[in-house]
Amino acid sequence: MKIITSMDNAPRSALLVTPHQDDAEGGCAGVVSRWARRGTEVVYLLCTNGDKGSTDPDMTSPALAAIREREQLEAAKVLGVKDVVFLRHPDGGLEDSLELRAQVAREIRRHRPEVVMCIDPFRSVSHTHRDHRVSGMVALDAVFTYAWSSLHFPEQISKEGLSPHGVSEIYLWGSEAPDVYVDITEGVEAKALSLSKHVSQMREPERIPERVRSRAKAVGERAGLPYAEAFRRIRRDPALTHWSEV
Ligand SMILES: [Zn+2]
Repeated sequence: MKIITSMDNAPRSALLVTPHQDDAEGGCAGVVSRWARRGTEVVYLLCTNGDKGSTDPDMTSPALAAIREREQLEAAKVLGVKDVVFLRHPDGGLEDSLELRAQVAREIRRHRPEVVMCIDPFRSVSHTHRDHRVSGMVALDAVFTYAWSSLHFPEQISKEGLSPHGVSEIYLWGSEAPDVYVDITEGVEAKALSLSKHVSQMREPERIPERVRSRAKAVGERAGLPYAEAFRRIRRDPALTHWSEV
């Protein structure tokens, strides 16, 4: 079922689990900006250090990782993001490991988001970066399987003072089957500005605003909105154990 929403009600808090610097800006910066202006506490959980994203033969991985971390902080500032947590796994080396599942569950328990946003890991038509698949899958598993149960990673509770947390909604960006379109008219310029902060990833930075607007317009046309971002949304039934894609 396709749902069109203006999403006037911003959530109290949102955690974005994102693989590389600039992925969250490309996927959902319009919504992040919109929510942050309405008081949502947004935290980024950045899984990798992005240290392979360059075609410059003189660039080194340590130098690139440092550059991209700075760029990510600047982009997050534009959007009003409250905090960026860097896990610094190697670019292209993200593994669906118990370690990563524990790290994501820990940040869910620490920041206690109402909403988690991540990349949709399920694709049948187009291929995507390995880290994108892994980060999306681990984010979903952290929400569905781990973070809510005190019996998973119990040392986070007994030794770190955290407590279990159940997330209410998940928004997956980059989905082949979106069912929610969000009006980002008021966030489209902030999205373009945040993307432009990722200078190391740009070939034609001057064309970013035009590209962002035209992409958001094309997505919006599918839903009768001026500018939009599209998501697959999964919501938790208040009964706690039941999840549905509505
Ligand atoms: Zn990426």
